[in-house]
Amino acid sequence: MTNDDATPTLEIEPASMKSSGRCACCGKSRRTAWGFVYRDGGPRACYFVEWTLGRSDCAARFDVVVGSWFDGTTEDDREAVSLEYRLLDTGPSFSVVDAAGRPAAEVGRATKGGDVRGTPLADEAMTIAGAVLETDARVRELAVPVPA
Ligand SMILES: [Zn+2]
Repeated sequence: MTNDDATPTLEIEPASMKSSGRCACCGKSRRTAWGFVYRDGGPRACYFVEWTLGRSDCAARFDVVVGSWFDGTTEDDREAVSLEYRLLDTGPSFSVVDAAGRPAAEVGRATKGGDVRGTPLADEAMTIAGAVLETDARVRELAVPVPA
């Protein structure tokens, strides 16, 4: 695969996961998986995906924390963006929502959906979330349509 300066290389590194209660709509188990994102070889983001196991039709959340991860940086150097995920007839769809109260808000400043929508930060968070969806085998099922 070729790469030029305008298209940074994203590398997704899955880490741990934990169960996170039951789905509000169907009562099935929910899970949160997380991992790290490297851009052009350097640390760039971490991500959390919370979804209902086996149910790509229930609401899922992708939280992406973008910014600096070097020694001495704090959550003030990073921004937490929360994306609501839905699988539409047209394919995967992300929309930016408020990040307050999400686990991601503990490692980055929680952003508001209205402030982020349409900005380069939103573009980057969605690009990362899309790469996670394609690359992280744990969340792949979210991209597979439910049989009618
Ligand atoms: Zn559900």
